[in-house]
Amino acid sequence: MQPILDTLLQMPAWQLWSIFLTENLLIMLGVLAWGNALQGKPGQLMFVYTQRQWGICLLTCALNTVVTYAGYWLWKQGYIIITTSLSFRIITDAVFLFLAMDLLMYIFHYIIHKTFLYRWLHQLHHEAVDPQPIDLFILHPVETLCFGALWLMLLLFFRMNIYGIMIYLAINVFFGMMGHLGMEPLPERVCQWPGFKYLGTSSFHHHHHQQEKENFGFYTSIWDRLFRTYQSR
Ligand SMILES: [Zn+2]
Ligand SMILES: [Zn+2]
Repeated sequence: MQPILDTLLQMPAWQLWSIFLTENLLIMLGVLAWGNALQGKPGQLMFVYTQRQWGICLLTCALNTVVTYAGYWLWKQGYIIITTSLSFRIITDAVFLFLAMDLLMYIFHYIIHKTFLYRWLHQLHHEAVDPQPIDLFILHPVETLCFGALWLMLLLFFRMNIYGIMIYLAINVFFGMMGHLGMEPLPERVCQWPGFKYLGTSSFHHHHHQQEKENFGFYTSIWDRLFRTYQSR
């Protein structure tokens, strides 16, 4: 991994912007394709969404690219420190990022629901009562940047392992896609298994789109259970 990171340090800015934009576009297309396939509608990538949805979705991708570049710049300047060792830190850092981001996003999400910020920042995302995969990217531009800022803040304060970061980012995209499927691909009995019970399943976030006063978490239901905003159905 170190040689790849060293190469990134040498690259001109235009090349980095291109790589980061391509990465974010591929993630977005991957979410839409995988999400549609899970819904049993493969091949319906382009045609089920409106021009307005595509516009907002592409703007979110562009802003996520800005966040990616900001993270790169902070790392290059030495404000963010990333380790590359192959050690147990890969797992512990991934778990830490998973729980810490879940908590930070819970708090942010709760605040934007309970204050004047809702109308300004979050109402757009809640236009979807039965979310579709593209709704993961239907966010107000400032909301997208706020989520990005939370992420970069965590990396500024804690020295993380690059593989742990990659695992966490993959999990983040997976949960985002699952939460906006508009259906639950897991059988009911699996959702009740001890481990799954505390995870933010498709039904968990779908419920939030239908009952906005409940289920503010993203990856787990831990914080909702703790702060009494949890509802299973
Ligand atoms: Zn949502
Ligand atoms: Zn919400």
